[in-house]
Amino acid sequence: MATEADLARLRHFRVSEFRAPERMDALFLTWLDAAREMAGVPFVITSDWRSPVENAAVGGYERSLHLRGRAVDLRWPASRITAFKLLRGIVLAARLAPAPLQLELEIGAQPHLHLGLYDETDGKGEHEMFVVHRTL
Ligand SMILES: [Zn+2]
Repeated sequence: MATEADLARLRHFRVSEFRAPERMDALFLTWLDAAREMAGVPFVITSDWRSPVENAAVGGYERSLHLRGRAVDLRWPASRITAFKLLRGIVLAARLAPAPLQLELEIGAQPHLHLGLYDETDGKGEHEMFVVHRTL
């Protein structure tokens, strides 16, 4: 859970960019802000914390990191240069991540990048990256 002080420390995100800022994990937000700094391009958040009901409605994985406020979905930039910078920032920031990362690029009508941070209860030791193709 992010406190007001945690949220006030974010340099690249306004609280209003999160639908449920207080439900976000402070460690994840700190890392996300560092990744955004390294990318040098906007991170447009299209999904952050989800309730179990909301997560089920969008077909989310039942143990989705969104449920714990440890994931966001970012709009995939239309510009290839911007998309490259976004990914580059995330890769550069990966070494600062306090736990393994989960990256999922979903290609479809509304392409987005899912970015999550596992925690110690997940038993994950490695970063994971998936590319998911969905045609709608
Ligand atoms: Zn997601």
